[in-house]
Amino acid sequence: MLKRVLNIDLTNETYKIEEMENLFTLFLGGIGTGIRLLERNCPESTDSNSENAPIIFCIGTLEGLFPCCSKTAAVFKSPLTGNLGESYAGGKLGLAMRFADYGAIVIKGKAKRSTYISIHNEDVKFHNATTLKGLSTYATARVLREVEKRKGIQSIVTIGPAGERLIRYANVNVDTYRHFGRLGLGAVFGSKNLKAITISGNQSYEIDDKKTYKTVYRAIYDILINTPIMQKYHDLGTSVNILPLNELRCLPTRNLQTSSFEGADKISGELFASEYLTKKIACGQCPIGCIHIATIRIPFGSEHEYESMKVPYDYEPLFSLGTMLGISSPEEVMRLIEIVDGKGLDAMSTGVILAWATEAYEHGLISAKETMGIPLYWGKGDNYRKIIENLVNGSNEFYKILSTGVLKASGIFGGHDYALELGRNEIAGYHCGYATILGQLYGGRHSHLDNGGYALDQKLHSNPMEPEKIVETLILEEQGRCVFNSLVACLFARGMYTDKIISDALEVAGIKRTPEELAELGELIYTERFKFKIREGFDLDNLKIPKRFYETESFNGMLNEKNMEKLAEIYRERIKGLL
Ligand code: SF4
Repeated sequence: MLKRVLNIDLTNETYKIEEMENLFTLFLGGIGTGIRLLERNCPESTDSNSENAPIIFCIGTLEGLFPCCSKTAAVFKSPLTGNLGESYAGGKLGLAMRFADYGAIVIKGKAKRSTYISIHNEDVKFHNATTLKGLSTYATARVLREVEKRKGIQSIVTIGPAGERLIRYANVNVDTYRHFGRLGLGAVFGSKNLKAITISGNQSYEIDDKKTYKTVYRAIYDILINTPIMQKYHDLGTSVNILPLNELRCLPTRNLQTSSFEGADKISGELFASEYLTKKIACGQCPIGCIHIATIRIPFGSEHEYESMKVPYDYEPLFSLGTMLGISSPEEVMRLIEIVDGKGLDAMSTGVILAWATEAYEHGLISAKETMGIPLYWGKGDNYRKIIENLVNGSNEFYKILSTGVLKASGIFGGHDYALELGRNEIAGYHCGYATILGQLYGGRHSHLDNGGYALDQKLHSNPMEPEKIVETLILEEQGRCVFNSLVACLFARGMYTDKIISDALEVAGIKRTPEELAELGELIYTERFKFKIREGFDLDNLKIPKRFYETESFNGMLNEKNMEKLAEIYRERIKGLL
């Protein structure tokens, strides 16, 4: 059973281990435990970049026990939205925490100079990282893998130059190919002078009823491996979505001026698999391996010299750095993914901001004077690479403004009607209908994954529902995902982890929960998240939806502002009723 919390104080370079078994028994770990730890450790109205702002990592009760329960929740105050920061990453971090015997890690304070922390079981050390300053996420991880070789399961967590420069949508890289992508955790690392963490553990844990454990494990494993439920993730990965979403008119293109892209087949999962895919890897203890890595070669010099690059590709960066920018060259998209990952930027926010900037440039709201002579044209990958360099370097006032997010940038330069954010977070790659927009607007972290509104819209197309029912379905889905995100199971496996399977698996871990009790827990966590958001200034009554959503045909046709407002009102009242 999880119980230990490692508290790290960067200011004084000290640490303390606490036992908080109740917090893990009650909330199951992950976001449930994390939100309670955030309430306790983040004083009201704390500046996300201040010493007092905590970084909290939490794993779930089933971590290290069952397949696909391999993720880690990060909870923090978001520099991008100003309220709840919540993000999830795979890789080996969860397993490393489990084998170091920590259910959660809480980091506070601010280091005097650039620092990396190494954690091996109960040994915690603070190291001078000034020689790593400015290095990409990839290079930092390479160096730390050499100097911090440890026994057991090890994970390396780093930021790139974007986090060091406090860009509000800087991400945190985990084990090179996974990320705490959204809401700016990288900037919180940067504000603490925290360049990286290595964590490793080689401890063990006992399971009382090994016979039942084997039976439940085998049942889960069989479904994952011997049924089609996870097949698409292993085969083409999430990039399998490009062609169907394009067909359905759900694929935001050129800043959602259209919802289908004429070059979709050139950056599809099928094309990548046949031409560029060289490896598939998996998060710790996952038999699926949905992480697809492509290899490209970049020519340099005149005598057939090449640099090879390994690039992880998923649906989301293919949307944000491909279709949103009108780029149909797979190699150009991969070069953009590589630079964005290496700099430590969230690919989705970056692509949406570049798309807004391109349209603002077309309309004359910004000019070559602001961009330092770099023209912004759809499809020009080399220009976008230069823009990203300048953005991360903060080369002038315009680039510094771009680093604050699309809402702030459009507040200064104009073009708010096509600045594609919902709840201050740049949008995900779906234009499916009302539920997609509402789900991101009122979701706890303004993510498409909070409640899967995009999937509901695909059902609504053939099975319409009353507005009240749409809102209820989204809220119930989000509450269910709050339980899932406490475990912290991979959302791709949510079709397999039914309430019954979760109850059986929890029993192996010594926790009894009926499906009804799990539903109550989901509602509790959902409500706690909103209470924290509202405590930190989130205003349910003051959220805007950019006009662009009503101007471009979605999978469910043209959307109507009045219908949307009616749904939004029902949603707001429903949330208020829970608080
Ligand atoms: S399915 Fe993919 S993202 Fe999910 S745990 Fe497995 S490898 Fe990680």
